[in-house]
Amino acid sequence: MKIHEYQAKEILARYGLPVVEGRVAETVDEAVRIAEELGPPLVVKAQVHVGGRGKAGGVKLAQSLEEARDAAQRILGMEIKGRPVRKVLVARAVEIAREFYLSVVVDRSVKSVTLMASAEGGVEIEEVAREAPEKIVRQAADPFLGLLPYQARNAAYALDLDPELVRPFVDMALALYRVLRDTDASLVEINPLAVTADGTWAAVDAKIVLDDNGLFRHRDLEALRDVGEEEPQETMARQAGLSFVKLDGTIGCVVNGAGLAMATMDTVKLYGGEPANFLDIGGGAKADQVTQALRILLSDPKVKVVLFNIFGGITRCDDVARGIVEGLRAVDTAVPIVIRLVGTNEEEGRRILADAGLIAVTSMSEAAQKAVALASGR
Ligand code: GDP
Ligand code: MN
Repeated sequence: MKIHEYQAKEILARYGLPVVEGRVAETVDEAVRIAEELGPPLVVKAQVHVGGRGKAGGVKLAQSLEEARDAAQRILGMEIKGRPVRKVLVARAVEIAREFYLSVVVDRSVKSVTLMASAEGGVEIEEVAREAPEKIVRQAADPFLGLLPYQARNAAYALDLDPELVRPFVDMALALYRVLRDTDASLVEINPLAVTADGTWAAVDAKIVLDDNGLFRHRDLEALRDVGEEEPQETMARQAGLSFVKLDGTIGCVVNGAGLAMATMDTVKLYGGEPANFLDIGGGAKADQVTQALRILLSDPKVKVVLFNIFGGITRCDDVARGIVEGLRAVDTAVPIVIRLVGTNEEEGRRILADAGLIAVTSMSEAAQKAVALASGR
């Protein structure tokens, strides 16, 4: 789960990180009130769950209250990467001398939480990784010992910092590690981490991505969820207890089991199709979950065909068949449905489908080929 910059900064501030003071506003008047309290120079920043806000015009410096009002007015009306801006952060502006990058991230390639730092701050780290990977220093934390001070010092030395900046840098790096550990985050990032004109550190931007699977033990963090920033389909799926990831293709997939879901997507791709999603309806899926799954997929106008791939183990084929029939009755769509149904109670499942005028195939490749053909209008 992503959270907003202003929320991430509140967390970082609790860990002693040098966050620049600011507050969030939903209206221009509110933004102006905050601006009056803080006093210029200020920065007004769009709060949306996407990066690159600066480039998109969503971050504006203001030298006066008038400019702050103007900036809030413009930013609150804009869209960034297709997302309407509903909130702005009004913060004190800092005079930036140098921009660094600092993060702590779960790095699967080394199976460790890793400290990442770079003197190429302010730009997206993926870009640095692509064009000048040698400019990123990495220190992998031992899972038992955590990130150790010498590792943070290693990073500091690699950045060639002024000596008086090293100690506070080490403190910040270790604090970021604690934030990640305490919140079950997969990423805690400050970019840019600025050295100000008067030679101190300032966290100008902040980003935290929380691990959804850790949220059950962080009620306070769950409360930071901004449903307005989620894909509506992902919200629906979460509420229905379905594991769902939206993708860009045209073939909606409903599958029981994560492994089978991955295999289904691979098979679709093998035959030249593009999956519209990953969706695991789970091991013991019942009719109403299947109905919900169908609703979610069919709410995406890009979906040209829905492919069910059900291997009945714990899941019973007759339950799924009933779900498909009920779901189609409830959502009433012209989108063709391809069904592969094998396993427990298969015969009964097929009979239920046949009674409703639907036909199930038995092989996965046949189902995938059929779906691809229908999606491409063949
Ligand atoms: P992002 O583009 O979404 O990553 O948003 P950032 O918060 O990182 O802001 C983008 C850029 O705006 C930063 O890299 C800075 O160069 C600039 N910026 C943001 N806040 C300030 C500030 O307080 N003072 C100055 N001088 N520049 C700022
Ligand atoms: Mn940034």
